[in-house]
Amino acid sequence: MIKAIRGMRDLLPPETARWQWVEQVAREVFALYGYREIRLPLLERTELFARSIGADTDIVSKEMYSFPDRKGESLTLRPEATASVLRAVVENGLDKGGGVKKLYTLGPMFRYERPQKGRYRQFYQINGEAFGVDAPELDAEVILLLLDILQRLQLGEMRLLINSLGCPECQVKFKAALGLFLISREGLCEDCQRRRTTNALRVLDCKSVHCKEILKDAPVIRDYLCADCAAHFARVLELLRRFGVAYEDQPRLVRGLDYYTRTAFEVVAPGLGAQDAVAGGGRYDGLSQQLGGPALPGLGFAIGQDRLLEVLPRELLGRDREYKVFLVALGEAAKEKCLNLLQKLRENNLATEMDFGNRSLKAQISQADRLGAACVIIIGEMELKDGKAQIREMATAYQQPVPFNEVPDHVKWLKDKTLAETNV
Ligand SMILES: [Zn+2]
Ligand SMILES: [Zn+2]
Repeated sequence: MIKAIRGMRDLLPPETARWQWVEQVAREVFALYGYREIRLPLLERTELFARSIGADTDIVSKEMYSFPDRKGESLTLRPEATASVLRAVVENGLDKGGGVKKLYTLGPMFRYERPQKGRYRQFYQINGEAFGVDAPELDAEVILLLLDILQRLQLGEMRLLINSLGCPECQVKFKAALGLFLISREGLCEDCQRRRTTNALRVLDCKSVHCKEILKDAPVIRDYLCADCAAHFARVLELLRRFGVAYEDQPRLVRGLDYYTRTAFEVVAPGLGAQDAVAGGGRYDGLSQQLGGPALPGLGFAIGQDRLLEVLPRELLGRDREYKVFLVALGEAAKEKCLNLLQKLRENNLATEMDFGNRSLKAQISQADRLGAACVIIIGEMELKDGKAQIREMATAYQQPVPFNEVPDHVKWLKDKTLAETNV
């Protein structure tokens, strides 16, 4: 049988119930903060990512799924969402009219990385992006929003790491200082030897242990922030303290994308490898112009949904709250009766199933059990003659006959009773 592609996985029930729950909570919190959903194509022109994320980044140089379409144009399966959101905002004029614009999007991203625990080549992100304002209050609000989502999802222990990457002016000065530092260092990996002249900032997020060791003494951007950037960062931190957010000021934090300016942050959680943030983001004030658009400041974050689901407590999530009913038909005549009842129960908003395979009572009951049915309705020849169905509560095995026309009302009553009891 043909198999799925390496690094691409199927998400199966009942796990999908946890995914739905995470997405539902995220949508609710986004709405509280005034974010509305945007849905985007998975394919974009390769240029969009090369110009935004940066040609020297690992993502663009090694990890993108790019291919020519039938007319020879290079297309790429999106490796992240921010560039696409920004493209869509400008292309559709959503940036017009001033003020802050807030959007969120959920969906798969694609990167050709080495598959490992919690890392897939098709992975899922929850993205929030806000445009139009460069005020530090927006940075603080975006971080509060992110933490709000993660807290409501009951991600217990987590750490917020934060830094400022400065404006292009700060970055030019810092890059020069970093380049000078790197030029005399021996033992950098092959990539970094190249990067130190093409884009020294990228050396900072090299994953090689060797390079990390060398960088311990490297200059930090904090020492090169201009007065405006320093004040912006100080205000973000002040607001975080005001709202009781514990953060760790990390002068060496960088992100794996070129477009970040000023505030950059990550949320890490125990249970994932050191490099595996559960969420990250930052400000990208120059990105729109880099893509040929108008001046449009913005910032955002991405939650790695696959990794998040790895670390969320399993027992708290995806409890299937649905009350399920299963119809057991014994014989052809009973099956006809059950078919009618099946639709009747669904009309009454009762999740109901039956098996059409004419199997034995035992086989059908065990299937009901596998499906997690709370209530089983049994109809055989005897029941047809009496005009009553046997209704069995699976939890207690208590069974009683109920006239056919009273079955929907009786099951509804049972459902209310059961849900009330389990809610206590
Ligand atoms: Zn600056
Ligand atoms: Zn390196």
